[in-house]
Amino acid sequence: MSLRYVSTRGGVPPCGFEAALFAGLAADGGLYLPESWPRFERDELEALQGAPYQEVAARVLAPFVGEDLSPAELDELIAAAYAGFDHAAIAPLRQLGPNEWLLELFHGPTLAFKDIAMQLLARLFERFLSRRERAVTIVGATSGDTGAAAIEAFAGRARTTVVILHPHGRISDVQRRQMTTVAAANVHNLAIEGTFDDCQALLKALLGDAALRERLNLAAINSINWGRIMAQAVYYVSAALALGAPWRRVAFAVPSGNFGDVYAGYVAHRMGLPVAQLIVATNRNDILARFFQTGVYQAGEVVPTTSPSMDIQVASNFERLLFDHLYGRDGRALARLMEEFQEHRRLAVPDDALGRARELFDAARVEEAEVAATMADVLRSTGQLIDPHSAVGVAAGRRCRQDPAIPLVMLATAHPAKFLDAVRAATGVAPALPARLADLDRRPERCERLPNHLAAVQRRIEQLAREAA
Ligand SMILES: *Cc1c(COP(=O)(O)O)cnc(C)c1O
Repeated sequence: MSLRYVSTRGGVPPCGFEAALFAGLAADGGLYLPESWPRFERDELEALQGAPYQEVAARVLAPFVGEDLSPAELDELIAAAYAGFDHAAIAPLRQLGPNEWLLELFHGPTLAFKDIAMQLLARLFERFLSRRERAVTIVGATSGDTGAAAIEAFAGRARTTVVILHPHGRISDVQRRQMTTVAAANVHNLAIEGTFDDCQALLKALLGDAALRERLNLAAINSINWGRIMAQAVYYVSAALALGAPWRRVAFAVPSGNFGDVYAGYVAHRMGLPVAQLIVATNRNDILARFFQTGVYQAGEVVPTTSPSMDIQVASNFERLLFDHLYGRDGRALARLMEEFQEHRRLAVPDDALGRARELFDAARVEEAEVAATMADVLRSTGQLIDPHSAVGVAAGRRCRQDPAIPLVMLATAHPAKFLDAVRAATGVAPALPARLADLDRRPERCERLPNHLAAVQRRIEQLAREAA
């Protein structure tokens, strides 16, 4: 029997994997989650020790995909997804200090961890679309890295038009160029005069318009897409296995924005991985850190930082934790709670729910000066350059870890060359781009600027979809 997927707001009937993948957001405004968690026994985890990343991926993903793909098809798509990575381990660990490890998630084509999920997602889409002879318009909002990963993964693929919104002037040059220099005819960049949260609100409005969605066959590839979460759960498992799981517990520190990555760690934990601690690391945009301290989830103003992929004040995937862990999977309660948040930009959970969250999660906000100091310290003590997002994770991990005897894995979510200016300012050293991207700043760019205005954005997307048909 295949797993079924339910919405966090309980307002739509359960559906299968393929339907959840293409829906992204559920029609009731909620996010899809599996109806129950598949679980690994300890001996099943032990049997995976030493296995290649791809094999761990196949084991972790198979129960989520169910009968929508045969085991051979799943293996084939996983192999293709990771063939373009420039490290054979896909997500290697590097020791940073005593019982401290960096999990390098930036060996994919666009140098950030989002490649790991997106490369697989594009192949899942392609397989299902060709089976059904359908086409889609993929829309995404990006604070930088999602868009690049999506464009790279979907460029030139049949049956897809890709439209990516990014906040004009608020992403790094390398991030922008990675998106705007892709020449494929099915790729379109829209620079929105607003913040990432504005882009995300536009995206939610577009996807929330059922008629438009149907007319254009819209699909979302933001981190609300279940397919991305499940693909990210894999590296928590592979890293923990390498450090002695299932017989040893492991703690993770995760640079966080939309709460997708750290939620994938929670999924791995629910599947039976012995996770001692999940440390939510935020920059000055600290809605998540404040929540785990106070139980109040309140949006503030977005402040630009050196870690722009985390400059977010509304963490979409947080709704999944509220539903699954804090509100006993009560969809109606969640629907009310999210309505309250929509209206007041604030919600508060009861003390017992906060207590339950704190059993597994810790959180810290890291100031810009500490981000810079951490980059300099890591270079001095290990010879290793890390990017500002990863530095937020390292600083928070060191501050929040409870037991030095438990291995601490800190997720390195981007390659330092992707955030050249911040790394050079903090360390005095300029990291080099890998050879395949060395001429990035000489490639021609293609991008349109639009106001932060739903009607204008919608009109343009309709045009692009019509031209592709
Ligand atoms: C997207 C991103 C993050 C934040 O991940 P979430 O899943 O949104 O919490 C952190 N670091 C980098 C480099 C990213 O691209």
